[in-house]
Amino acid sequence: PHLARDVAASLRAIPDFPEPGVLFKDFTPLLLDVDLRNRVSTDVVRRYDGAADLVIGIEARGFILGSVIADRLGAGFVPVRKEGKLPSQTHSVSYSLEYGSATVEVHTDAIQAGQRVLIVDDVLATGGTAAAAVELVRRCGGEVVAVEVVLELGFLRGRDKLAGTRVNALLTD
Ligand code: IMP
Repeated sequence: PHLARDVAASLRAIPDFPEPGVLFKDFTPLLLDVDLRNRVSTDVVRRYDGAADLVIGIEARGFILGSVIADRLGAGFVPVRKEGKLPSQTHSVSYSLEYGSATVEVHTDAIQAGQRVLIVDDVLATGGTAAAAVELVRRCGGEVVAVEVVLELGFLRGRDKLAGTRVNALLTD
């Protein structure tokens, strides 16, 4: 409860970013605070200790906490990136956005069949990105342990796109 409160206090809301009408939740102040950052990763690691072989971080903010959490779990780190950024052979999943679509990719050899994978990102909004990451893990034959985010925007119902997958948020708006 204190952790959620302190995380809430560290997030700042930026109006009209990246476009008019969007209230962007910025977690860079949390990253500046080493104690808070450590408390966040300790909280996540406690939930998945011994339960994940790999941690996926979703580009770009998911890379930051994802790699810290991977270190502390003793797990490999796997980047899920936007289209065209990964150099080797990839699996690709596209999903629709309010306007247009987006594609995320993972290296085909990053996840072995049966490996247990924790997916980490900063914010769960509509859930499209996290659902695409779940699909990428399945294409590789991996098992998703959970989707773990700092902030869930509950009113966007992202969880509905993640039925059957454990979803945990430190904080829900
Ligand atoms: P979704 O696919 O709509 O759930 O959007 C989630 C993705 O967009 C994540 O990778 C987030 O990092 C990013 N995102 C969406 N809204 C915000 C926000 O308010 N702050 C930070 N990232 C956001």
